[in-house]
Amino acid sequence: MGSEYPTIKIKAGREWQLKRGHPWLFSGGLQQAPRDLAPGSLVDLVDAAGGFVGRGYYNPKTDIAVRLLTCQDEPVDQAFFRKRVQAAWDLRQQALDLNRTDVFRLIHAEGDFLPGVIADYYAGVIVLQSHTAGVDRLLEPLTAALAEVARPKAILLRTDVAVRSREGLGKAEPRLLMGEIPPGLTVQENGLRFKIDPWKGQKTGFFTDQRDKRQALARYARALPDGATMANLFSYTAGFSVYAVAARPGLKTINVDQSAAALEQARQNFEANNLPAAAHIFKTADAFKWLEAERERGAQHEIVILDPPAFAKTHREKDKALKGYTRLNSLGLPLVRKGGLLITCSCSGSVMMAEFENAVREAGAHTGRDLQVLEIFENGADHPWSLIAPESRYLKVLFCRVN
Ligand code: SAH
Repeated sequence: MGSEYPTIKIKAGREWQLKRGHPWLFSGGLQQAPRDLAPGSLVDLVDAAGGFVGRGYYNPKTDIAVRLLTCQDEPVDQAFFRKRVQAAWDLRQQALDLNRTDVFRLIHAEGDFLPGVIADYYAGVIVLQSHTAGVDRLLEPLTAALAEVARPKAILLRTDVAVRSREGLGKAEPRLLMGEIPPGLTVQENGLRFKIDPWKGQKTGFFTDQRDKRQALARYARALPDGATMANLFSYTAGFSVYAVAARPGLKTINVDQSAAALEQARQNFEANNLPAAAHIFKTADAFKWLEAERERGAQHEIVILDPPAFAKTHREKDKALKGYTRLNSLGLPLVRKGGLLITCSCSGSVMMAEFENAVREAGAHTGRDLQVLEIFENGADHPWSLIAPESRYLKVLFCRVN
């Protein structure tokens, strides 16, 4: 084949998933682990008969030994990344209303056929995350391709993500790869304004995956009676609350998060939309403890939102995570007024929708509340997942009427 990349042979019978487009080969699928290959090196996978299967990067330090970038015999260079980034860019142009929204996920890793790469777009600023040793080594052509396709003002690299430890990689301070980030960076989502701190904000600064759910919430908020209240648990920078109050001025929100910095940003987000923050509560607290105290007080709200961080980061933590969802929802349900709305979310990739539904159903049984499911959401179109690789299908959101 004359390829410039070292070849790795895989065990017989392990190639069919890869040939159908699943990008992962676990270490148990290698015939023999290659020696002297630096973590993140580009390799070609060949089947037991020596036939080309695909090209990707290898890391001996993790269980996902190889992640494929392509099943074609093509160089992995700037032109390759340009093709991938352009396809991702075009999809966002189609799927989103970019007249009212200039914040979205531009690259969703495996879901955009770029394993290990996350790129979020914030009004012309790209915040890039590398999750793997392979991507660390490919940053140059990748950055050049992003610059070519999206023509950003700046590209910031963030490597302060926990998943990197699975690859044997450390965390580092954010690093500007090109351009400059304008101070006071503000984005627009469905016509509402949000301030972003790409340097210090959680993940890359904003949770773009809740855009469509926030918009759906606005529909329900519009019809709320005078004096209605909404408890937004794990509020981060209060995306849900800003939408709800913009739709229903007079609605009082209570925003609870353990991060004081996120709540300070939340206050600014209210002000950025000319919604007086003083009319709302921003409470730095552990959500579980706050829910318990609220229940003891006998407080109730028209809307309760539960959007915790992922309880399961790996498959092994799944059972514990499911119990966690039942516990959290059991704490949240008593706080929903009869006929009110519970919005409950899970972003654990290993938890399937039916399992999450079951965890919430259990909570309903424990608390004697009857849940009517009104709407179900998963990843939005800017967080696509490949049907052959459902690992990227991580978000589950239920809108339930609580009787
Ligand atoms: N709903 C948000 C995103 C939530 S992300 C949005 O639409 O933007 C999860 C949030 O939970 C983070 O802001 C994190 O600071 C917070 N968090 C994590 N553990 C917590 C806990 N035990 N109590 C309160 N907040 C917590």
